[in-house]
Amino acid sequence: MKAAVFKEVGQPLVVETVDDPTPEPGELVMKVGYCGICGTDLHATREGLTTACCGQILGHEYVGEIVEVGARAEGDWQVGDRVCAMPFIACGHCLPCAAGRFFECADKKVSGVDDQGGFAEYVTTGSRETLLLPDTLELRSAALVEPLAVGIHAVRVAGVRAGSRVLIIGAGPIGLTTALWCRFFGARDVVISELAPARAALAKQMGATAVLHPDVEEGAEGLLQQYVDAAGAPPDVIFECVGAPGLIQQCIEMASYGSSVVPVGVCEQPDAIMPFLGLVKELRIQFAMAYNKDDFETSVAMLAEGRIDVTPMITDTVSLDELPEAFEALRTPSDQCKVLTQL
Ligand SMILES: [Zn+2]
Ligand SMILES: [Zn+2]
Repeated sequence: MKAAVFKEVGQPLVVETVDDPTPEPGELVMKVGYCGICGTDLHATREGLTTACCGQILGHEYVGEIVEVGARAEGDWQVGDRVCAMPFIACGHCLPCAAGRFFECADKKVSGVDDQGGFAEYVTTGSRETLLLPDTLELRSAALVEPLAVGIHAVRVAGVRAGSRVLIIGAGPIGLTTALWCRFFGARDVVISELAPARAALAKQMGATAVLHPDVEEGAEGLLQQYVDAAGAPPDVIFECVGAPGLIQQCIEMASYGSSVVPVGVCEQPDAIMPFLGLVKELRIQFAMAYNKDDFETSVAMLAEGRIDVTPMITDTVSLDELPEAFEALRTPSDQCKVLTQL
């Protein structure tokens, strides 16, 4: 099959012919329809904590059609079923697996890390980790289920409820899906702070009740003042959806007594905070990562019923041959939000 392969840090992905995947008895093979490019994929091609190995096929936001069903696959899977899948294959026997919390499984294979990913014509998926797509759901929209699941998971662990006042730092794909779900669950103020004008405009489209333009000189104090001007009171929950050093500290400075700071952004560098500030405010700092099966199921159902819409987030679609160039272009800030590879 054709795939875009990571060779080494500093080199673009290379489209070449590789072996077709060979599924284990409990696995399925998906013919990939779309695979989104994620910030995590870009991280994996840089020097850092998550650098991929040579020969790795990245991509974990895939949707498509089943072309092969393993002999011991769980569930009534048929060739031709339209599906999306969580990007890992868990052991299926441990306690977290029994509860659908496959991400917590200590024995899982992760797409793009220790298993091949979706920037390819075919990818293997776990029969337990795969979800059937309703006929009403377009494959292109379903490609956004993974970032939607990250957003809903963050909103759930943050304890956002009807009437909450929320601040989201950053209007990248994860900031936007977090905003979408905050709005969905009835937050009264869904305020996003974003520097880039195109992303700020998209934030409004995706349900932000106000968009703030942070002033670097005025720092946390200035941003908090802007928030209070827009929402009438300080936030109950602050989501950090950028992952740059210094931002958790800025959230701690903005947070009011007893409120929550939820880091969702991926920061791979040491980052200093002043614990005393969080201490005197009795802050809850709750990191959020990935998702459970239920987060995927809810995202699929709400998309299929037309109760949420992610199409404004899809800013470009490229072919597998165009992927290496599009991938490199995402390293520098641009007006792009979610770029999909169409296979
Ligand atoms: Zn992703
Ligand atoms: Zn397990």
